[in-house]
Amino acid sequence: MRYKCCPNCGSRDVSLYGTKNRELIFSDRGKETFKIQKYICNKKCNGGKSFYFSTNIDDIVEPNSNYVKKFKKEAVELYAEALVSTRSSANIMNSENNIHVSHQSIQNWILEMPEHPKAEPMTLSGYYAFDAQWVKTNGKWSFRLLLADIKTELIIRSKTYTEENEKNINKFISKTLINQKKIAITTDLKTEYKPIVEKLGFKH
Ligand SMILES: [Zn+2]
Repeated sequence: MRYKCCPNCGSRDVSLYGTKNRELIFSDRGKETFKIQKYICNKKCNGGKSFYFSTNIDDIVEPNSNYVKKFKKEAVELYAEALVSTRSSANIMNSENNIHVSHQSIQNWILEMPEHPKAEPMTLSGYYAFDAQWVKTNGKWSFRLLLADIKTELIIRSKTYTEENEKNINKFISKTLINQKKIAITTDLKTEYKPIVEKLGFKH
């Protein structure tokens, strides 16, 4: 803690009191163990006994959880944006991070969110349009990918990446259309798209 202060009595007369291990799970680097600093208040403010506390990390993770808030948010967003089932969200998060989160956990996280996305995933037509363009935001260029359903003319998902490469395009399309009908994807005339689209099981 930058400003050490007893949360019980407000005193700054506190001393370091060892560390405890805390396991946290991040979406980008998986599971890691952290040492959390513990403290003792020197004022005996706990009814004449010592009061112990540790560095507050509630901004990052809820007290009863190992999954950091950002991880939960991403899992829920993936479910909402990509219209995948909670089971698929769990599979995607797991395959990317080499960790294990259950689909039941994701369902619980969705219900914890103040405005949780709708419970059933949408069914798409199987015919999609893919578009990619460079966009400049706040002076920085990024690469924006977009998928739309041709029959309903609805945008299914758009996401920006820092790099234009096969890996990002592949990930974007496969994540977005997981568990959906795979018939055809229309793209512009750039030749790179054809093998990516066909490898994913769509007509180009
Ligand atoms: Zn105290």
